Formats: sequence, structure tokens, C-alpha cells
Amino acid sequence: MSEEDLNISRLHQTFPVKIERGKGARVWDDSGKEYIDCMGGYGVALVGHCNSRVVNAIKNQAEKLLVCHMSLYNDTREDFIRKTRAIAPKGLTKVFFSNSGAEAVEAALKFSRRYTGKPGIISMTGGYHGKTLGALSVTYSEKYRKPFMPLLEGVKFLPYGRMEIEREVDESIGTVIIEPIQGETGIILPPEGLLQHIRETCTRLGIVLIFDEIQSGLGRTGKMWAGEHWKTVPDIMCLAKGVAGGVPIGLTLSKPEIIESLRIGEHSSTFGGNPLACAAGSATIDALREDKLVENAAEAGAYFKDGLLKLKDKHRIVREVRGLGLMLAMEMRFDVKNLLLDGIRHGLLMLYSGKNILRLLPPLLMDRGTISATLEIMDNLLLAEGKRRNV
Ligand code: PLP
Repeated sequence: MSEEDLNISRLHQTFPVKIERGKGARVWDDSGKEYIDCMGGYGVALVGHCNSRVVNAIKNQAEKLLVCHMSLYNDTREDFIRKTRAIAPKGLTKVFFSNSGAEAVEAALKFSRRYTGKPGIISMTGGYHGKTLGALSVTYSEKYRKPFMPLLEGVKFLPYGRMEIEREVDESIGTVIIEPIQGETGIILPPEGLLQHIRETCTRLGIVLIFDEIQSGLGRTGKMWAGEHWKTVPDIMCLAKGVAGGVPIGLTLSKPEIIESLRIGEHSSTFGGNPLACAAGSATIDALREDKLVENAAEAGAYFKDGLLKLKDKHRIVREVRGLGLMLAMEMRFDVKNLLLDGIRHGLLMLYSGKNILRLLPPLLMDRGTISATLEIMDNLLLAEGKRRNV
């Protein structure tokens, strides 16, 4: 048993591999074995492991200033705000800094509650927004919620995909929160028209619309924001994961009038806006724009998905292939545990959603050669699993 097994809170599923270093779309374990990383630290390795722009920015900033609370001004932070605003959807001009996805969601929920004065929230069945008590209250999964009841009152879950949002709205509802593409639940795309319908309804009824783009944002789907695929802009947007190239960060972008409804001190974060995360964040945005990673996610993602669809045609154990850009999933007819473990043995790291879905969130710099190598490994894994299951 390792030190980790013995002495930390073991609240995660673990896999028998110890990762030592990474570069681009690859990582290496403590024996020197190489893996293609389609797990990507749950989508955090957006601009690749140890992206040189990010590493250099961190080194330079670490030598200059590590601590600078939001109550003091800082050039590195200003630069990051400018860069964030340049890529933010129109109208979302104010930034709140925190350190994780759940914190970005907590802030969004508080901002909306303060602005509308209404406690009621509509979330979606299948939605995932994090595990702190507020974020958990708008997360759908019974498995995560049940042990911690009672959660926030006034949260309703709308069946995802149904265009009947108005039927659920009463006087108490001030907020709607949705992932433009559901990630944790298995890369579920919204039906055509859903996001536009929700946007239109929220505008008409004076409800604040929050997009949780923590998994789908920053080029992952082949556009800077997943909402762009449906030409929809929210009132508040939550970001985290890869925003700072691997340094912990959370961002809540908002229309100014919503954030400005809070008074000084009504929300804060000690680490939020720290210079290290901001320097890494600026370098990440530079990498996305200058290395054309969003465009690559679209192009490489289409190539990857096409390959996955061919595997679906070949292997009967595959039920469906879904996704956009480099946010992809392969739903199987069986439990994917063998495939994940076999993948590790053959040098491929993948994620899962639920019991029977393989989820792929690789770095956006995946090239065709790496994707072809991934597809070849997957082909062999599916063949072996089909034989094992006698299909
Ligand atoms: N929202 C979405 C859509 C996510 O995918 C996640 C994490 O996977 C979160 C929120 C929570 O982020 P964190 O784990 O950083 O708190």
C-alpha cells in the first residue's frame, strides 16, 4: 500500500499508475512508460502538459511576486483581466476570481440571488456543477446529493432537453443554471433550439441565466465557448479547470449590473486573483490564441470523432459516439472498467462517465498522429473486450 492509500482521504476511484511527468498530450509513469493522455487531468491539461508558455510565465512570476491580495492592485492581474475580457462573450465584462469550479458556481449563485432577490433556481436533470453545498444543490445526481440532505431549498430540476421551462417558473425563480454541453453525465449535447429557448425565456421573465462552461469552455468544443455553437450568451458564465494551464483557478464572468448588486465584502476569496494563477492564465490564453488551439480542437476533434464512429461501426459493444471538438464520449453496452484498465496497460489514459461511458478530454493540441495512435489502441481494446464478452 502506498502512502497515498494509507494516509489521505480516499474519496476517488483510483487506477494502478503513478504519473511522474508530462509534456503536451503525453504523460510518463514512474517506470518511464509513456501514455497518451485522453484523461487530461479531467480536462485541466487544456493547453497540454507543461505548456512552455505557461511554465515560463509561472517561473517568471514566481521570482517576482507570489502573494498579492485583491485589496491591492497588481499588473499581472490587470493583464489577465484584459486578456480574459478580450475572449469573453459580449457583455460579460466583470470578473470574479476564485480557485476552483465549485467556487465559481457558488459565486454565480450568490451573485444571481443578490441581484434578483429570489432564492429559486432551475437546474437540469443530469447537470453537474460541483460538490460544495451550494453547487451540490444544483447538481442532479442522487448519489452525490442524498447523503447531504437537506441542501439549498427552492431548486427544481427540469428534464434536460425539454422545452417546457416556463411551466416550471414561478415567482420564486431568479436563476437558471445549465451546462451548454453536459460533461460529467457523458457529453450530452442539447437538442437544437434548447439553449436559445432558455435564453429567450430568461430574458423575457427577468431570470438570470448562468452557463457552467467549466468543462466545455475555452476552446474545448472547437469554439471558444460551447454556447457559441448555439449563438447563445448567458448573463453569468463559470470557468475553471484549464483556465490557468493547470494552476488552480476559478472565474465567474458576469454582466456588470449583476456583480455590482453586491456590496464590498459580501463575497470574497483569499487566493482569488493571485499573481501566479493570473500569470499562468494569461499564458494559457496566449497559447489558445497564438497557437490556434481552438481551431485545432475543431479540426482534430472532427478527425477523432470520425475515427470513433468507424470504431462504432466495427465493434458491436459500442452503442453511441457523441461530442464536439475534443469533448468526446463513447457509450458502451457494458461496464467500461476493463477498457480503462486495459487502456492503462496499453499506454492510453481515458476517463469514464457513469458505468458505461468512456469520456475523452485530451489536450487541445492533439495532432492527427497521436489521434491515430489512440484510435489504434482503442480498436485493440474494443476487440479484446468484445471477445471477453462473447459479442
Ligand atoms: N461544473 C462542471 C461542468 C464540471 O465539470 C466540474 C468538474 O468536473 C465542476 C463544475 C466542479 O469543478 P471543481 O471540481 O473544480 O470544483
